Amino acid sequence: MSVATPASRALAPRLARLDGGRVRIDRAELPPGFAHEELVVQRGARSGALMAVAIHSTRLGPALGGVRLWHYAHPTDAVDDVLRLAEAMTLKAAAAGLDLGGGKGVICAPRPEPPAGEERRRLLLDFGDLVESLEGRYITAEDIGTTADDMVVIAERTRHVTGRPRRDGGAGDPSPFTALGVEAAMRAACAHAFGSPLLPDRRVTVIGVGQVGMRLARSLASRGARLVLSDIDGRKRAIADELGAEWVEPELALTVRCDVLAPCAVGGLIDEQAARRLRCRVICGAANNQLTDGGVGALLARRGIVYAPDFIANAGGLIAVYGEIAGYGADRARVLAQGIEEVMGRVLVESARRGKPPLEAARVLAEQRLGGSGVSESVT
Ligand code: NAD
Repeated sequence: MSVATPASRALAPRLARLDGGRVRIDRAELPPGFAHEELVVQRGARSGALMAVAIHSTRLGPALGGVRLWHYAHPTDAVDDVLRLAEAMTLKAAAAGLDLGGGKGVICAPRPEPPAGEERRRLLLDFGDLVESLEGRYITAEDIGTTADDMVVIAERTRHVTGRPRRDGGAGDPSPFTALGVEAAMRAACAHAFGSPLLPDRRVTVIGVGQVGMRLARSLASRGARLVLSDIDGRKRAIADELGAEWVEPELALTVRCDVLAPCAVGGLIDEQAARRLRCRVICGAANNQLTDGGVGALLARRGIVYAPDFIANAGGLIAVYGEIAGYGADRARVLAQGIEEVMGRVLVESARRGKPPLEAARVLAEQRLGGSGVSESVT
């Protein structure tokens, strides 16, 4: 079932009663199309800031998902965001074969500039209390706007936290594992599209040369791929120079002729209009929610462009932080992240066999593990 209206609109009467306290909303109170087990919204006792945790599913294990520290134009946007992102985490963990459910956290930053010092600490401690109140049903980790060091602060209030720095006994930065998994997925997608998984000589455009994109680009360059790099931050051009890669401005990046397009920036870059203009054979990157909706996936399939579903391709980081709970280290995480090649291969074969876009085949794979738990089609 697709989600036509933002959940926050339906929940507005409940959220209005939040005042200085806490609102817990369970599945029965959520609007149609939302199968989440629980949504908790509360004001931090120290910071006064609005924060929320959405638990989509604990069917396979505790709901693990990062906490986003972000300045939202309106607090209800945070509620919509946390619900959407939690559901995507359920799919990601299930498809990766992990004994984890899906959840997500958000903290509403008071201003667009990242909070620092005591203000940041208050926000994180408040969020730690919220996580602790959920008694292990939700486990937090870093996400956009938060760092491994922030997890150390959250850990002062709860033990249900992963992704702390290695010096604190954590798995450290997940980005290298995410990059490894994206490259593994890329091999599978190239095998499907070109009949060979080999990346040397492929022309690959990486959009977003950040923590993941930079590592992916370095690795691809070392294998002899011909690279095109793009980022809204002009300073990243130095990495293109260092790797002997071409540089294109972001407004042109989607229309560069290439074998593989690797979106590693923000989500939602590929809408219907962009999908019609793409000149690649494969899309495989790290960004979450790369396609604006499922219709774009169908359009790509009609154009013969192989879309490697994001929640399969970018699971390497989740695999690494899960090691902190499951008790395995970096070596095992690397092996498991390489296994994304096999999972992606299965998804693409299944997609071809059923005549369905890869995103749908990936969802079926995840739902098989979940036993058909009503994951909505709104998660792209
Ligand atoms: P990052 O913030 O380190 O890097 C993102 C880069 O994209 C930055 O250099 C930024 O300047 C650039 N960028 C932003 N908007 C852009 C645009 N419109 N065009 C071109 N460049 C743009 O983030 P990251 O950790 O590398 O993650 C990249 C993506 O992968 C994000 O969408 C993230 O949610 C997703 N992801 C990351 C991980 C991880 O382990 N870090 C895991 C899963 C998914």
